[in-house]
Amino acid sequence: MKCKRCRAKAEVQVRHHNAAFCRPCFILVFQRQVQRSIEKHRMFTAQEEILVAVSGGKDSLALWDALIELGYRTTGLHLALGIGEYSHVSTTKTVDFAHRRHLRLITVDLEAQGLAVPTLARFTKRPACATCGTTKRHEFDRMAFENGFKVLATGHNLDDEAARLLGNVLHWQVHYLAKQSPVLESTHERLARKVKPLYRVTEYETAVYAFFRGIDYVVDECPNSVGATQLMYKDTLNRLEAVMPGTKLTFVRDFLTSGQPAFSAAADGAPQSCDACGMPSFGTLCSYCRLRREVETKQLMWQPPRAASDGR
Ligand code: AMP
Ligand code: ZN
Repeated sequence: MKCKRCRAKAEVQVRHHNAAFCRPCFILVFQRQVQRSIEKHRMFTAQEEILVAVSGGKDSLALWDALIELGYRTTGLHLALGIGEYSHVSTTKTVDFAHRRHLRLITVDLEAQGLAVPTLARFTKRPACATCGTTKRHEFDRMAFENGFKVLATGHNLDDEAARLLGNVLHWQVHYLAKQSPVLESTHERLARKVKPLYRVTEYETAVYAFFRGIDYVVDECPNSVGATQLMYKDTLNRLEAVMPGTKLTFVRDFLTSGQPAFSAAADGAPQSCDACGMPSFGTLCSYCRLRREVETKQLMWQPPRAASDGR
């Protein structure tokens, strides 16, 4: 097979684009796709400083790499979520990446603050993924605000967006459909614009890009995501994609152009400010402060199990 651009020997086939590429051309085409998404949706300009949320996984590290290669000004933001060995490896890979390339990285150690995801889940009896999502959203917003960033980029790819869309459609989550977009404009003075420059590239393409660029990333999935519904949706979409290449891209792209405007009326109004932390909130307290308060209250009430020697 030959490269579609330069006719050299191809190393990778991209079925939904009906094309194959050699290594340098794939890297170029990938970066151009990212650039096109940024420009098409006016995500940000070359003058703006972007806060890139970096987990240590292939998507966010590939995103950070591509943004730098494209000449954008970036700072990384990593949350050490305290999910055992998985989080430790994630932090190490992120820190190493930043260190080797002399990039600025802000790290928030939630474990050291006693706010690790397993702790939040245990004391509130909520699913770990739910407490993790609330923590990430809040810390992304808070860190962007406190460090003066107007734009926050995440590494969500086409598979993520298609799976989320499928879930939202299956359950007719109109509020979420109104908000599912590669760009979410700020609706509060403390809220940065949220952007997803990888929303048009598949998980497979990001993995190939990361490999070709020599990026060392966490290969393991988060232990909490095993059996998660999102993975089932991804699997279903992959099976459709195998018989109908292009399904994921058409699903997401056509939703954005024709489907989504129908849901815009369901969008939430502007949020108020949280009484405790000042960040955006739809009640007197934001969901993260509510979560924290619940944990703090239960921690105070919690009695350690009696030692065997007690009562002697
Ligand atoms: P996930 O919610 O795990 O699917 O991740 C989606 C995106 O959120 C990633 O591509 C990253 O941009 C960001 N992200 C996830 N986990 C972290 C983390 N621990 N620190 C910083 N960013 C993260
Ligand atoms: Zn709050």
